[in-house]
Amino acid sequence: MSEAWEVVIGMEVHVQPRTRSKMFCGCAIAPLNAAPNTYVCEICEGMPGVLPVINKAAVEACLKTALALECEIPEHTKFDRKNYMYPDLPKGYQISQYDLPMSRNGHLDVDGSRVRIRRVHLEEDTGKLVHAGDKLHKASESFVDLNRAGVPLMEIVSEPDIRSADEAREYAMALRILLRTIGASEADMEKGQMRVEPNISVRRAGNPEFGEKTELKNINSFRALHRAIEYEVKRQVDLIESGGTVQQETRGWSEAEQRTFKQRSKEDAEDYRYFPEPDLPPLRLDRAWIEKLRRELPELPAVRRTRLVEEYALPAADAALIASEREWADLFEGAVEKGAPAKATANWIIGEPTARDLSPDFLADIVTLVSDGRINRDQGREVLAESLSTGTSPSAVVSARGLTQESDAGALESIVREVISSNPRAVSDYRAGKRQALGALMADLKKKAPAANPKVANELLQRLLAS
Ligand SMILES: [Zn+2]
Repeated sequence: MSEAWEVVIGMEVHVQPRTRSKMFCGCAIAPLNAAPNTYVCEICEGMPGVLPVINKAAVEACLKTALALECEIPEHTKFDRKNYMYPDLPKGYQISQYDLPMSRNGHLDVDGSRVRIRRVHLEEDTGKLVHAGDKLHKASESFVDLNRAGVPLMEIVSEPDIRSADEAREYAMALRILLRTIGASEADMEKGQMRVEPNISVRRAGNPEFGEKTELKNINSFRALHRAIEYEVKRQVDLIESGGTVQQETRGWSEAEQRTFKQRSKEDAEDYRYFPEPDLPPLRLDRAWIEKLRRELPELPAVRRTRLVEEYALPAADAALIASEREWADLFEGAVEKGAPAKATANWIIGEPTARDLSPDFLADIVTLVSDGRINRDQGREVLAESLSTGTSPSAVVSARGLTQESDAGALESIVREVISSNPRAVSDYRAGKRQALGALMADLKKKAPAANPKVANELLQRLLAS
């Protein structure tokens, strides 16, 4: 793409808040493998004469999200009917929020650039159409599964402040980390708990007017999000440069063909004939409750990341990774508090995924055993596995098994000499200046003397090779 084009992206992200039941009825949230239509009732099936009731946990998750995004929370909010006909929508309308959403005017800072948040509101999910074509059914037959009908959804809408596929991916990832940290949602994309819909337009650089935009649906991974945006940007630029015009429409993303395709012309808000939901009262959002929710928010990931760098002198990349999961960051700080050195603790959490299952006490114990030189890293891994499976403390495992690393150069010398005599090729390579041959020699030494202190062994090996 030439420099002459600017990309403009806004994001709509649908997130399933962490609740036990659906948005307006008592049905439990169906697990992924549930048989069709087994998590339904008269309310979510849209039977006549039933009355919806607002799920408080969903409202709380939505407000916490809005507060974490520094949105304004109004005194009142209400629900509205969004009317359209589709087989997976039993009532013929979806309960959503139109002109008085739960929150407005927030922002999320991503890598130093600010993405403004237009609104965060609550609505309900639709059912699912299953297109058959198996042994029992004709290919032309379709079925409706209402397990997801009425599942709560938060919709997080950004302003069109994003300027590239990279930024869009960063934004979606930062949002997911935030949602998980505050406990508002698991935001697991593979389970359909987070769905991302970018709207995309292009304009010639310097033009203040927005171009016509398309909206991409059915994006279910960060990778697909990135590829779909890159494809769509190129498609729009090619279209305009060859004399065509971009149509406002909704497009899908085909993972198999790696391209976007037209689904339908985009409806405007008036097509949905929104009106206030008559079966639900407007909600008054109590200020004391809002302030309580605000106080209960944990330290947000961006703040914690900065603090991990400043307080523990961690490299930025380590801090970003550890702050991306609240449990990892809690484990890290807990272990350091018990006396483990910070950088070594970070290395264990990042490099040994199973270490994340340890208690802060046990992690501190193991990191200290290795960094004090009592055992080497390979022995540390064995101790880690045993501690996890038996619940015995790392120090106790080390004592019980009599583990200790050999740090005495005199005791290691005969093994090092044996390594040198049995690897003539690597030795001559090393002496000819190939530094990487040392790796092969160290690997053989580790095999012959698993308990060797690698630092002592390495120095001894280099000294004997030089003589
Ligand atoms: Zn129900």
